Amino acid sequence: MATFGNLSDRLAETFKNLRTKGKLSAADVDGTIREIRRALLDADVALTVVKDFTGKVRERALGDEVNKALNPAQQVVQIVNEELVEILGGQQRRLEFAKRPPTVIMLAGLQGAGKTTLAGKLAKWLAKDGHTPILVAADLQRPNAVTQLQVVGAQAGVPVFAPEAGNGVGDPVRVARDAVKFAEQKLHDVVIVDTAGRLGVDAELMKQAADIRKATNPDEVLFVIDAMIGQDAVATAKAFQDGVDFTGVVLSKLDGDARGGAALSVASITGRPIMFASTGEGLDDFEPFHPDRMASRILD
Ligand code: GDP
Repeated sequence: MATFGNLSDRLAETFKNLRTKGKLSAADVDGTIREIRRALLDADVALTVVKDFTGKVRERALGDEVNKALNPAQQVVQIVNEELVEILGGQQRRLEFAKRPPTVIMLAGLQGAGKTTLAGKLAKWLAKDGHTPILVAADLQRPNAVTQLQVVGAQAGVPVFAPEAGNGVGDPVRVARDAVKFAEQKLHDVVIVDTAGRLGVDAELMKQAADIRKATNPDEVLFVIDAMIGQDAVATAKAFQDGVDFTGVVLSKLDGDARGGAALSVASITGRPIMFASTGEGLDDFEPFHPDRMASRILD
C-alpha cells in the first residue's frame, strides 16, 4: 500500500538499528522511541496521537516484558505492533444490521472524500453477500450528484432512489425519509444514504446531515475521509463528530501516496472504529478494515 511506504521504511530502519543490540538500555529505548516519534510526525499523524502512542510504547518497553525477553529488540517491535493495532481501533468492527429491516447506512464527509463511490462499493459488496440494498440520492447540493449516483448504481447493479425532479432540487431530508419507507414496502433490506458534502466544513450542510440522521434513524453513520487530507484529518473528523456524529470511519484513497497520518489519527481521536478501506476508483477496490492487518502492513 503506497500510503504507508515511507513510514514503513523509516520504522524498518529504526528496528534494524535496534536489532543490532543485545540487552536494551534505557537510552536505546529512548533513541528508538525518538525515531518512531519523528517517523509518525513526518507521516502527518496528529501530535496528541503520537504522544499517546510513544508514551505507551515507552512505558512497556522499559518494563519487565522487555527486560526478561529472550530477544528484547523483537519484543519492542511486538509492542509497537500491538499499540499500533490499538490506535487503529483494536478489533475489527463489522456493520451492525437492524433487527427489523431495513438497515439504514448514512454516509457523511467532505465533498470529494469519496462518498458516492463508496456508496456504490458498499452496495455492490452487500448485494454480493445476498442483501437487497438501495442507494439514496440525498445529495441535492452538487449539480451532478444524483446523476453520478445513478451511474454508480447502474455499475453496481443496485437501484437508486432519487427525487423525481433530478439533480439539485428537492428536500434531501424528505428524500431520505421517503426512501426508508420505500425500502420497507419493497423489501429492500439495506438503505444507503449518500449526503451532500462541501469543500470545507459548513454549518448549514452539517445541520442538513444531522436532520437526515434524525429523520432516518440510521443504524450506521459512516464518516468517509480521504487519506490524503493529512493534518486536516483531526479538525475535519471532530467537526463531523460534533455536527452529525458517526458510528464508524471509512478511509478512502488509501491507494494514493498520502503519508497516512489521517488513517493513523482518526480512530484514536474520535474513538470510532475504521470499518472499511477504499483503495481505488473501481467498485471492487474496497475492503473491510482489519486493524491488525494494517499494522502488519505498516511494520512489514
Ligand atoms: P464525494 O464527493 O464524497 O461523493 O466523492 P466521490 O465519490 O465523487 O469521489 C471523488 C473522486 O475521488 C472521484 O473522482 C472518485 O473516482 C475518486 N475516488 C473515490 N474513492 C477513491 C479511492 O479509494 N481511490 C482513488 N484513487 N480515488 C477515489
